[in-house]
Amino acid sequence: MGQQVAEVCGNVPSPLPGMLTITDFINILHCYYKSPLVQMYELESHKIETWRDVYLKSSPPLLISISPDASLFDAIYSLLKHKIHRLPVIDPQSGNVLHILTHKRILKFLHIFGKKVPKPVFVQRQIQELGIGTFRNIATVHQTATLYDALSIFVDRRVSALPVVDEGGKVVALYSKFDVINLAAQKTYNNLHVTMLEALCRRTCFVEGVIKCYPDETLETVIDRLVTAEVHRLVLVDRGDVVRGIISLSDLLQAMVLTPAGIEALLS
Ligand code: AMP
Repeated sequence: MGQQVAEVCGNVPSPLPGMLTITDFINILHCYYKSPLVQMYELESHKIETWRDVYLKSSPPLLISISPDASLFDAIYSLLKHKIHRLPVIDPQSGNVLHILTHKRILKFLHIFGKKVPKPVFVQRQIQELGIGTFRNIATVHQTATLYDALSIFVDRRVSALPVVDEGGKVVALYSKFDVINLAAQKTYNNLHVTMLEALCRRTCFVEGVIKCYPDETLETVIDRLVTAEVHRLVLVDRGDVVRGIISLSDLLQAMVLTPAGIEALLS
């Protein structure tokens, strides 16, 4: 949510567009929520501009966008550098938003297009050897923690999904920022003091599911699984299903596109 100055786009005519995503909704919800007994009237009555003033007290962040004639490489670089999940493609002349690029769309394109070119040999190597993904300090949420706890982790850690774990650290589900859309759809956001297990049961919108991978699987297997399941991340587990890491589309784009071009670890 914010005003536009495009990084790759150059000057864009005003009025300038902005983005309002589920992350903004989570931040707003987290900011207003007090308890199940206190109705959040502001949430329904505020205009977007009021939200912008209240919640972005200082100057609003720049809207990152890209011009249609920029390269796919520029788009990937921008998504990863700014840790964003949506990149609007904006016509520099009209200022119209032509498309919204996401990791999923780019990876799908690369997967189809990549069939025509030889695969890099390293895709045959194991994930544990390549070290692609995040393996330390994984943000998880316990199945008996509250939904408010999960939203607090989203706000504090800026991660896009949380493996939901049991007492032994075993993954039982995945709760992503996208799942928060259920709260808006069902208007159940007035009670965030439900357990994660309850919140998971209430999900009715599309559920991405917890799709796993193992450290000794090859990168090729991991890519195929991500593309086939059309998910944004895999939870890396050991043979006992205990969470050991996350491999997201951001990690793959870093490893397959940016690192070979000499651009190291934008994600760290
Ligand atoms: P994403 O926003 O999901 O594309 O991921 C951006 C970076 O955060 C990647 O390096 C992921 O491996 C990492 N990441 C994603 N989810 C988590 C999590 N729950 N805990 C720690 N790191 C994560």
